[in-house]
Amino acid sequence: MTCSGPGFRVGFLAIMLALAGPAIAQAPPRPAPNPPPTTAVEIEAFSQGAMLGIFFHAFGHMVISELKLASTEPEEDAVDELSTILLSTVMIRVPESEGESYAQVIMGSALYLKFSAEELRAQDKGIPFHDEHPPDERRVANILCLAAGADPHHFFLTAAKAGILQDRLRRCAETYQERQAVWDELLARAVEGRKSRGMLTLEVVPSRNPTYRRFEQVFEQGGDFDQMLVFFVAMGRLPRDVPIVVKDCGVANGFWSPREAEIVLCYEMLDHVAQTFTRAAKRAPN
Ligand SMILES: [Zn+2]
Repeated sequence: MTCSGPGFRVGFLAIMLALAGPAIAQAPPRPAPNPPPTTAVEIEAFSQGAMLGIFFHAFGHMVISELKLASTEPEEDAVDELSTILLSTVMIRVPESEGESYAQVIMGSALYLKFSAEELRAQDKGIPFHDEHPPDERRVANILCLAAGADPHHFFLTAAKAGILQDRLRRCAETYQERQAVWDELLARAVEGRKSRGMLTLEVVPSRNPTYRRFEQVFEQGGDFDQMLVFFVAMGRLPRDVPIVVKDCGVANGFWSPREAEIVLCYEMLDHVAQTFTRAAKRAPN
């Protein structure tokens, strides 16, 4: 088992600073990207972005659970909203060069859900009615609306192309600001007076599958992932340390385990995401 270096041990407060930072109107304009990714390099970048999106979804479950946040929404909706708001808020408040990494995570997540939904529809399947997660199309729309609300220059066109109607798109900036304020207050109240300073740690368990070895490097090298953790864990005070465990699971998954008090990211999930993007690239018109 490979444990992370000091770079991965981060305490929980910068997001509060980020949430209290400059107004979103000051966000620099960025060109709208033009999905779907088609080259191997693009597919790799979007797959890693989507995998980080899965991590931040699990991170959202962990934050709600560990900080005992109250929410009237179904938790899956709340978690998508929280993770997208965290990513979007930091994205628009860091220098543009760093913001690209956050945009990549949001874009990768939305596109992965979009392509998954397309595949399920082509097979005449969909998210079963009893699944806790809402249908992928709705998740895509909610994620892109919040991101477009935070950073229209980067996400408006993608959101429009994804089928969000103009009427809703016009209200996305307001939605983002309202929901960001709600989460800002919820998080601030939840960490108020807390003395604990739980840390996130990263444990990359080597895969038994040789084809997943390259995925180990994605997590071990840290890079953007490392920086994002520094940002996000610095958002408050976790009551206890939370390991992020990257390992073989036997199934494609990425989740928060309240019982084990750990976030699990499976190599199989990154493989599944990469395959989904590869199939989507093949379907894309030349
Ligand atoms: Zn979930």
